[in-house]
Amino acid sequence: MAHKTEALFRDDAYLRTADATVVAINERGGIILERTIFYATSGGQPGDSGYLERADGSRIAIAATITGETKDEIIHVPAPEQATPQIGERVNLAIDWERRHLLMRMHAACHLLTVVCPFPITGAAVSEDDSRVDFDIPDASFSKEEVTASLMDLVRADHPIFTRLISDEELAANPGLVKSKNVRPPVGTGKIRLVCIGESASVDSQPCGGTHVKSTGEIGEIHIGKIEKKGRENRRFRIRFGPMPAA
Ligand SMILES: [Zn+2]
Repeated sequence: MAHKTEALFRDDAYLRTADATVVAINERGGIILERTIFYATSGGQPGDSGYLERADGSRIAIAATITGETKDEIIHVPAPEQATPQIGERVNLAIDWERRHLLMRMHAACHLLTVVCPFPITGAAVSEDDSRVDFDIPDASFSKEEVTASLMDLVRADHPIFTRLISDEELAANPGLVKSKNVRPPVGTGKIRLVCIGESASVDSQPCGGTHVKSTGEIGEIHIGKIEKKGRENRRFRIRFGPMPAA
């Protein structure tokens, strides 16, 4: 039976610690808690690493976080040779915050890129030093300098980033919200999470379950490292931190 883990990071992406109870250990040693601050790999964003601290102060290192039988079941995958906690045991959770914050900055940067390049998205992957978004673009008239300048305008404007829940009906009435060509947000649960940028979502809103920083200014300096041609109409944009290196 799949468990439904309460995903604390959906309401507050800035939680670095929390406590929780162990509810199950799966056949591969994966740890399931009743609630968690660990994001599980999905939507192009990698899962969190960190540790669970036991009452005696010893730590169980968590190497990865993934989803289980359903998207709502979050599994904490221990590093090799870690102790196994007891069902019912209380543990203190801590994520690798430095890595997570880089992922939150990068993930928000990917949203800005979809504002600057308003084309159907065919793929995306967030990582802490280099992220990519693939677009269906018929002509390749974008330069990385121009795209970088537009991205940095949005960063400097320091727009707020926030989430809002909408109904399936509201989404159906606004098909333009969905920018992904292949991936449709899950419907039928009654609520879809929109990630909005700007006052009253003036800059952007799109369905997303990931973690993002709370304002575009917090992304900091970024640039487009590369625009690669992937097939006739596909362009892959790579986002990196820091200023654009001198040519
Ligand atoms: Zn997102």
